[in-house]
Amino acid sequence: MSELSTARGPQTVTVLGATGSIGASTLDVIARHPERYRIHALTAGTRREVLLEQCRRHRPAVAVLSREVDAAWLRERLAEARLAIEVRAGEPALVEVAEAGEVDVVMAAIVGAAGLLPTLAAVRAGKRVLLANKEALVMSGALFMDEVARCGARLLPIDSEHNAIYQCLPPPDARTSLGGVGVTQLLLTASGGPFRGWTAQALRAVTPEQACAHPNWSMGRKISVDSATLMNKGLELIEACWLFAARPEQIQVVVHPQSVIHSMAAYSDGSVIAQLGNPDMRTPIAYGLAWPERIAAGVERLDLFQIARLDFEPPDEGAFPCLRLAREAMAAGGTAPAVLNAANEVAVAAFLDGRLGFAGIAEVVESVLEASHVQPADELERILAEDARARRLAGQRIASLAMAR
Ligand code: NAD
Ligand code: MG
Repeated sequence: MSELSTARGPQTVTVLGATGSIGASTLDVIARHPERYRIHALTAGTRREVLLEQCRRHRPAVAVLSREVDAAWLRERLAEARLAIEVRAGEPALVEVAEAGEVDVVMAAIVGAAGLLPTLAAVRAGKRVLLANKEALVMSGALFMDEVARCGARLLPIDSEHNAIYQCLPPPDARTSLGGVGVTQLLLTASGGPFRGWTAQALRAVTPEQACAHPNWSMGRKISVDSATLMNKGLELIEACWLFAARPEQIQVVVHPQSVIHSMAAYSDGSVIAQLGNPDMRTPIAYGLAWPERIAAGVERLDLFQIARLDFEPPDEGAFPCLRLAREAMAAGGTAPAVLNAANEVAVAAFLDGRLGFAGIAEVVESVLEASHVQPADELERILAEDARARRLAGQRIASLAMAR
């Protein structure tokens, strides 16, 4: 249905996680094309002031916040402004605005496991799903991809690396397998984060402020810390395995500090096809919104003379063990990636709160993985139960590390 609706007039979009970094970039692109897109719903966790401002500007039909107190506050402000916008609260409301019949496109930009149920709801309703929320796919990979196929959803990767690979491959409908179209490897580029070249010893003292100061990208705090530990690249390796039906050994991580090549596909004839651009998430967002067409994103064209050179190096898995942990979790299969993700979310939150050191993030994830038995990940209930169990274990491990400090 969503594929036909351009002929019908503007496409209707729900933005899950509208107040975040990806959400704001999405609204920026949409506002450039009022004839093509109309907003159905905007959702936020707790940032009610930002959501109020977005409601004023973008006039959605529905706004959703996590808690009823924030929803009540927003309802009052919108009534004062005489704006007829329905305000709702909680996860059932997120699911509803993701699967609503009038919605064509869902931007899945909630951070972390909190995005899984609404993103899956959009998939099951057969929407065009723009996937930024990589944690949802990492947690439930096989089940998620099965539902995409079963329900006829159109899944477009927004993560810049996966969006780049998508652009470097033949169209999905013409693709049987990577080997079937002559692809031998996917080259996943990584900036290396703010601590590229640092030793394990130097990394022990880093602060949340240093970790969140990414050299090339401006992002939410959780993904910024993931970029600093290289867990982000680990999650992306798992994400790429599911999106492109690749085995972990078919994916090579290439550190490329300029973040200009967003990733590449290597073919059996020796060709390596890359997608380049300024590091600005509005490019993959515009691509996902308009695919297979192209629309303006407000991003300046790359100035190659200004960039002058491109560098590449292998990742340092000794100083950054999270990449290895993610690869091992993917190889272990089943619920292991969900456990990795849950332990990482808890550890990153503790690091940002000052309750855990930077090196403690990998320690916590590794100890939770070691204490977990891999189970089949074919049922959502089991995945969610393992997620909850891994969170409890991670909490205990963080508490015992704090006592030892
Ligand atoms: P962010 O922290 O800036 O925004 C997160 C959004 O999710 C906010 O709107 C927040 O209110 C909402 N949210 C958080 N917790 C919630 C909860 N429990 N329930 C409902 N809503 C909740 O994060 P971001 O940087 O925009 O990243 C969003 C997602 O996109 C992440 O999964 C991230 O890995 C992915 N991603 C981001 C970038 C980037 O450049 N920022 C690039 C690639 C992928
Ligand atoms: Mg990325």
